[in-house]
Parts: sequence; structure tokens; C-alpha cells
Amino acid sequence: CPSKFVIPGEGSYYCGPLIAGGVIIGAVRVEGLKDYWTTERESLLESYLSGAASALSNLRLLETTKQQANVDELTGLYNRRFLEEYARKLLAMARRKSQPLGIIMMDLDHFKEFNDLYGHEVGDRILRQFAKTATQAMREANLAARYGGEEFVAILPETDTQGCLRLGERIRLAVERMVVPSGTEKPLPQLTVSLGIAVYPEHGHTLEELLQASDKALYESKRAGRNRTTIYVPQEEPAS
Ligand code: GH3
Ligand code: MG
Ligand code: MG
Repeated sequence: CPSKFVIPGEGSYYCGPLIAGGVIIGAVRVEGLKDYWTTERESLLESYLSGAASALSNLRLLETTKQQANVDELTGLYNRRFLEEYARKLLAMARRKSQPLGIIMMDLDHFKEFNDLYGHEVGDRILRQFAKTATQAMREANLAARYGGEEFVAILPETDTQGCLRLGERIRLAVERMVVPSGTEKPLPQLTVSLGIAVYPEHGHTLEELLQASDKALYESKRAGRNRTTIYVPQEEPAS
């Protein structure tokens, strides 16, 4: 709180800390006329500042809590709740602008075996590494979330089937090359991921339809031998 803004002899200033819960969260400087700061005014300001400090600190806490409610603790990716909320907005926007919206559902292959053979802690480490690898393969505009245990979803605005396939394959190949930081245990066998793609408006119009379609495509990847990317193929309506 330097006094350089006040010309000596012409004004005065108050300078004090903003304290909330015993922690300094900022500083306040108030300028006034010469001889403005009486003891009374000073104590009035201080009582106002202590209220302001605690209000600010509560707002900060609220912001952190909100952030935590949207983020998966283990991987740092968005969680399912946030993904669904946000995807609905992106879908509405895609509809308005008549643009495609891609969904990629991903599920690690034979993850249960990794857990059973190497332990839950190594399993967690694999999940974190996968999250990092997938995020690095994606563009800024895309959003990735942990959808369930070892299931992840990416949302791709303004991306058609071919664009989704390109990204899906980029993620799949990056996972093939992925190295999971190992502690003292012996190197892990290669991990792979299966992916399923559905795109608005080709494969569905609501978020539920699209998630279901991408899940079916993912199941097809598993059925066909895993470590692959499948685009949803609508089922033929049975002839009546
Ligand atoms: P598939 O190739 O068919 O997907 O086989 P899978 O073994 O990956 O599939 P399954 O759904 O049977 O197994 C998923 C496993 O993921 C089971 C569960 O113990 C594990 N899992 C889920 N959440 C977590 C987690 O947060 N940490 C760890 N370490 N494991 C988890
Ligand atoms: Mg699974
Ligand atoms: Mg799996």
C-alpha cells in the first residue's frame, strides 16, 4: 500500500488487510481528503471490510465446490452429470446451426483382469493415464468425461462421422502406445480401448438416442474382438 497516489499534504489514505477466517485474502486501499480518516471512520470501514472479506471468501468456496461437483476426482475429467448437462446444450446448438455433433463412447478392454492381476491402485493409475492420453489426442473444443468406472465419453461439436472416426482412431492408437508409469512392479502388458461412435442427426436426435447408439457401436467393437472403433449402423426396421 504505497502512498504515491496521494499528494502529500492534500489527502490521506486508509490501507488495511482483508481478513477472512484468520487468513489474509487481499488488501484494501481507500483514498480520502486531507485528515479524512478519523478513528471512528476507520473502525466503521474496518467493520464493513470484515463483512466483505467473509462474503468474498464464501463466494470463492462456492466456486470451488461447484467445480468439484463437475469434475471426476480420480481422472480430473468432467463427470457424467456435467457431461449430460453440457451435451444437451451442445445438441441444442447443433440443432439451431444445422451442424453435426459427434459422440464417442470408450471402454477399456479387459480392465477387470488388469485390476485383478495388478491391484486396484495400478487400475487407478491406468485410468488416470488413459484420461491424459485421450485428452492430449483431442482438440480444445472437444470435451471428455468419465462416464462410469472405466467408461469414457467424448463430445465433438461440429464433427461428422469421418471426423469422429479420425479422432477415435487417434485415441485408440495413442492408447496402444501409452506407457503407464509403473512403480516397482514389472511393466504392464499393453492396454487397449474399444470405441463406439454416433453422430447427430444421422444416428439419433436426442442425447439419450445418441448415447444409446454409441453404446451399441461400442458393444459391436467388443464383439468383433476389441481394440477397434465402430460407427453405429442403424438396425433395419423389421418388415411388417
Ligand atoms: P471388456 O473388455 O468387455 O470391457 O472387459 P472389462 O474387464 O473391461 O469389463 P468389466 O465391465 O467386466 O470390468 C470393468 C472393471 O472396472 C470392473 C471394476 O472393478 C473396474 N473399475 C471400475 N471403476 C474403477 C475404478 O475407479 N478404479 C479401478 N481400479 N477399477 C475400477
Ligand atoms: Mg465397462
Ligand atoms: Mg471394459
